[in-house]
Amino acid sequence: MTRQAGLSPGAGLSMADVEAAARTIAGRADATPLIPSPYMSARAGGDFLLKMETMQPIGAFKLRGALNAVAALPEDTPGVTCCSTGNHGRGVAYAARARGMRAVICMSDLVPQAKIDGIRALGAEVRIAGRSQDDALAESQRLVAAEGLAEISPFDDPRVIAGQATIGLEILRARPDVATLLVPLSGGGLAAGVAFAAKSLNPAVRVIGITMDRGAAMAASLAAGRPVEVEEVPSLADSLGGGIGLHNRLSFPMCRALLDEVILVSEEEIYHAMQVLYHEDRMVAEGASVVGLAAVLAGRVTDLAAPVATVVTGRNLDMAIFTKIVTGQDIALGHHVLKGRAYAA
Ligand SMILES: *Cc1c(COP(=O)(O)O)cnc(C)c1O
Repeated sequence: MTRQAGLSPGAGLSMADVEAAARTIAGRADATPLIPSPYMSARAGGDFLLKMETMQPIGAFKLRGALNAVAALPEDTPGVTCCSTGNHGRGVAYAARARGMRAVICMSDLVPQAKIDGIRALGAEVRIAGRSQDDALAESQRLVAAEGLAEISPFDDPRVIAGQATIGLEILRARPDVATLLVPLSGGGLAAGVAFAAKSLNPAVRVIGITMDRGAAMAASLAAGRPVEVEEVPSLADSLGGGIGLHNRLSFPMCRALLDEVILVSEEEIYHAMQVLYHEDRMVAEGASVVGLAAVLAGRVTDLAAPVATVVTGRNLDMAIFTKIVTGQDIALGHHVLKGRAYAA
């Protein structure tokens, strides 16, 4: 799928919004390191850089957007709510606690227990509602109507997108020569923001959204030319699950305008990329975080130009499952069994 590149005039985001977000979150979300992976650099034929969002205080980049959105709420807001595959909820819980606000996080029963525990540990209430992100969203919207809580979308909110865009700002400021950006793609707040900031600083940078090949709503929507629903299925990249909303206002048009391409990777490829990051670079990261590596390792990126940067988006995984992956054991994904394979470079 090749997309037409260019800045989206309709979305209304400006670089002033991104600069303002950077000032708002400074000192609370960290400016994370951008470090080369020697193994991946050899594969890419030039620098392959990892933007280590795993090192944020909540273990994922979503803190940026959540802090920026929660900071904008009026003082008398009775609380915040959101639907989440886990990391947005953790970000909102963290940001709400810092402002002394109540937070109610709505999630489906596909969310791993480790993510639920992490959110509760931040003092937020957790509601498990139904089998899908859509069910979780419905519960969150019910709370807005019933209790006057402010809802913060995980991706379709201008302040959330501006917050995630600060990642693009940091990458291009540190390495203005980056030629290719590989961005994990779900609801598209991250990809929209990173692509917007990066292309504002260097219109020639190629930005590729990467997601899993089963149940990826943004990829299906971009292919269809309008937001569509897909069935949510268990994936190693659980943070990439969920719909984009049939009434998506921002992240869909921005991804359509700004992404040069979308690439899909298989569960086996994600499994292998998690092994590579662990065994070669000694790093722990979620399945959603390694799809950029997976696409390169599987030879799915044609005409890959270095320097390459990818966002290693989070590390909030179930350690029992991670241990199985790095030791090459089978993984149950719902009714499906993903065959294990011992790591070999
Ligand atoms: C949310 C998330 C993504 C995808 O971000 P979107 O803005 O929904 O596209 C990728 N990786 C991790 C770890 C996430 O939590």
